[in-house]
This record gives sequence, structure tokens and C-alpha cells, in this order.
Amino acid sequence: MVVGDVTTSTDVLVIGAGPGGYVAAIRAAQLALDVTLVEKGEYGGACLNRGCIPSKALIHGSKLASEAGQAEELGIYADPTVALDEMINWKDGVVDQLTSGIEQLCTAAGVNLLKGTAEFADENKVRIIHQGEGQGSESLKFENCIIATGSRPIEIPGFGFEDERIVSSDGALNFDTVPDELVIVGAGYIGMELATVYSRLGSDVSVIEMLEQALPSYEEDIASIVRKRAERLGVDFHFGYTADSWAASDGKAVLTAVPADEAAHDSDIELTADRILVAVGRRPVTDTLSIDDAGVETNAQGFIPTDSTCRTNKEHIFAVGDVAGEPMLAHKGSKEGEVAAEVIAGEPAAVDYQALPAAVFTDPEIGTVGLTENEAANKGMTPVTGEFQFQASGRALTANRAEGFVRIIATKETERVIGAQIVGPEASELIAEIAAMIEMGAKLEDIGSTVHTHPTLSEAIMEAAQNAREKAIHRRN
Ligand SMILES: Cc1cc2nc3c(=O)[nH]c(=O)nc-3n(C[C@H](O)[C@H](O)[C@H](O)COP(=O)(O)OP(=O)(O)OC[C@H]3O[C@@H](n4cnc5c(N)ncnc54)[C@H](O)[C@@H]3O)c2cc1C
Repeated sequence: MVVGDVTTSTDVLVIGAGPGGYVAAIRAAQLALDVTLVEKGEYGGACLNRGCIPSKALIHGSKLASEAGQAEELGIYADPTVALDEMINWKDGVVDQLTSGIEQLCTAAGVNLLKGTAEFADENKVRIIHQGEGQGSESLKFENCIIATGSRPIEIPGFGFEDERIVSSDGALNFDTVPDELVIVGAGYIGMELATVYSRLGSDVSVIEMLEQALPSYEEDIASIVRKRAERLGVDFHFGYTADSWAASDGKAVLTAVPADEAAHDSDIELTADRILVAVGRRPVTDTLSIDDAGVETNAQGFIPTDSTCRTNKEHIFAVGDVAGEPMLAHKGSKEGEVAAEVIAGEPAAVDYQALPAAVFTDPEIGTVGLTENEAANKGMTPVTGEFQFQASGRALTANRAEGFVRIIATKETERVIGAQIVGPEASELIAEIAAMIEMGAKLEDIGSTVHTHPTLSEAIMEAAQNAREKAIHRRN
């Protein structure tokens, strides 16, 4: 390890080895650039270590436990016991396997890996500070830089994460026992996914949400299906309330929430919890980079504005992933990472967000891509929609999960598919078909006339497309 004032150099410096940064580094190395990837923590970033992967592992584990215990209708009687520590160990094993895979992929691609925290010294140089054994710092000059430093959970005043009773999603993925009572502040997708996990595992879960709807960025008819199912799992919602303060009492935490709008609710509420999970959003990690020394501009929220090539206000500095703004999704960061690397290598790349899918792994799942009907109308288009309810899907009924629907949106004039929303079983997988169709510029007829395997959930996509053309077979058009 280089210690002291020695300065080395690289063609492309990537800061942060999350799904934005490591993909950018590998792609740049594939394009024969000399690449250095600096990471201060674990390879894989939030996604592999504290986000997508650990949360989906716990969602799967809790699903098995809950479904096995609730299958009397099918003649199955079971009362599963959950050893959360063993489930967490299994989840950690999955994470370890994937994070070491990232390191190997980078090394095999020829990426130089450096452990340490990067801070800009000027617009062509960073200091890299090493922690722990062999600590010290080194300087690294770069021709081009890709900032991929991601995001961290937002803290709310009075709910600091120093007390072990107050946790962010990071803590909620590593509880040693299932809390008897869990209060979740925020009904966005992270709050709702973790409400699903812990209600399935037996916690009494209460959710406080400032707005009057769960999953407020989704359409009401989609969000309400997920909320109703969560209520059936035992989740208690308090809409229109803001978490105000908490106090310790008998080893527990008593949270006070106040009405967000006093005209709607006239009194405060108190909720007792073993743990309070604050899931009110994430903020970009731009405040610890000395980013001003590089002359890179950030906006009022700290995000780095970029153009469609992921370039910042500085010609040779790019930003990808969460740090570059919404939507904060792993696959959005990876796509931007590829584009930034290709642009640096002189290729004609740009990010096109029209076919960017998103999924929420609640019960049931949500999958969305492209425009909603309202968004299309607001853009001056004349949307035509088709729907198909899973209630009429043989495969959904045989899986005993028939709630939800597929909705496809196309333009009336051209019948080109421009968006879809799915709420129901395997929505996260099903949405990929429509994303591919949008990417290829497909029309309703292309989906409707594609033969889909029977009996599968994907038949619902074909039927929804045919419904938009008034040609569905298994529903009235
Ligand atoms: C609970 C949870 C569930 C999620 N589920 C999903 C999901 O199902 N699907 C989905 O698409 N997304 C999901 N996300 C979001 C996803 O994790 C992020 O969008 C994604 O990780 C962003 O990738 P990134 O590369 O931009 O940043 P990150 O993954 O945050 O990686 C940034 C990296 O940069 C490093 N770093 C920061 N500053 C420095 C520095 N100065 N020097 C060196 N290294 C630095 C950090 O240590 C980190 O490793 C979830 C997030 C959470 C919290």
C-alpha cells in the first residue's frame, strides 16, 4: 500500500463500487481503458450489502414461513418456527457470495482495485484516505472520473440511529430477533417491503405515513391492493401523521406522531415499539467528497445533475446511480455506469429512460415501466389502455394468488406500447416482457399476437394487450 505523498495516475477513476460504479469500471476496462475503482466499504455497495439483495433474501424467507403457515385452504397444516438468526446467516452467505463475485469480476476484467475513501483535491486529482491497518493517504490523478458514491438513509430530527431501538433499513436487515412490536415511519417501497417481511415473521407492525396513501408514488388502485393485503397480514396503518418524537419506557420506545394536517386528524397518537424503523428516503452521498474542489455542481438536495450521457457540468467528470438522482434503482445505476464508460471510450452512448422498469417486492408485487395513463395524457398523447385481472388467470388461481391486474398503455394513433403497470404475483418478473417490448418499439398487436405459454401468468399480458384492442378472449372487452 502506498503511504504518504506519492501520486499515481489512471485514465478512468471510478469512485464507489455499487451497481453503478462496478459496472462502469468493468465496462471501461472492457473498452481497453486503464481503470481504477476506489471503494471505502464493501464491494457491491448498498444494493448487495444493505439493499436489494438482503431485503429480497428476507422477503423470500418470510414468504416461505408465512405461506407454509397459511395454507389450510389447500389442506396443508403447518406452524413454522422461524430462527431469525439462522435466516440472517443464510442471507449473509448470499451477500458474501455475490460481493466476492464482484471483486473477482473486476479483477478479471483488469480493473485496479483500491480500498479507501476518495476526496477531490482538484478537478483532476483525488486524495485516497486509507483506514485501519496501513492507514495513510495517497493521491491519484485521473483523465476522467465517474462518481458513483450512492446514497444513505435520511435521518429525521429526534430519531438518531445511535440508539439501538431506532434503525434505518440497514439495521432492519440485521435484527437478531423478530421484534414483537415494530413501528415503521414511511410507507414508501422500503417501508412497505420491510413491513411485509416482519408482519409475515410475526411482528405487530404499525406504519406511520405523512400522506394519505401507502406507496404514494404509485397509482391509487395499485397501492390499495398492496395496502389491503398488508392489512390482512396484520399491518396497522396511520395515514396523515408525522413522527414527532420518542421516549424510552420499560426498555421499549414510545413514539408520538402528530397530525400532518390538523383539519384531518385532531389528536396525536402514541405507539409502543421494540424497534422503530425510519424509512423516509435516502439522500445522495455528495457531502463527503470535497466535490466543490472538483468544481462539480450539485442541486439543492445534493444530487449531481447530469445530461443523457451522464456527464456533469465538468466535461471529464461523470455521475451515475443514486448520486445522480431519481429513480434510485440499482439497474438504473448500472445502465448509467455502462453509458458513462462508453462515452469516455468515445462511443455514441446515451441513457434512454423510457423503458426503465421498477419493481416493489411487496405482497403482491408491483412492476411498472414507462408512462401511466395520466402521464401520457399530460404529455399530450391520447392513451388507450387494456387490462386483465389475475382473477381470470388459471395460473394465478392455481398458485392461490389471484389478486391484482395487468394494465398496458399504448398511444391511440399508433398503438405503440408506452407503459404498463402490474400488481400481482411475480409482477417483478412479468414487467420485463413489456420493458423489452417498449425498448423494441412494439405495438399492442405484437404482444397480443405473441403466443404465450399456457398456463402462465404472462398470458395476462397478452390478454391486456388484446383488451386494449377489444379482442381479449377471457374477459369482456
Ligand atoms: C432496503 C433497500 C432495498 C432496495 N431494493 C432495491 C431493489 O429491489 N431494486 C433496486 O433496483 N434497487 C433497490 N434499492 C436501491 C439500490 O440499492 C440503489 O439504487 C443502488 O445500490 C445504487 O447504486 P449506486 O452504485 O448508485 O450506489 P451504492 O450502491 O450506494 O454504492 C455506492 C458505493 O460508494 C462507496 N463510497 C461512497 N463514498 C465514497 C468515497 N468517498 N470513496 C470511496 N467509496 C465511496 C460506498 O461505500 C458504496 O459502496 C434498495 C435500497 C435499499 C436501501
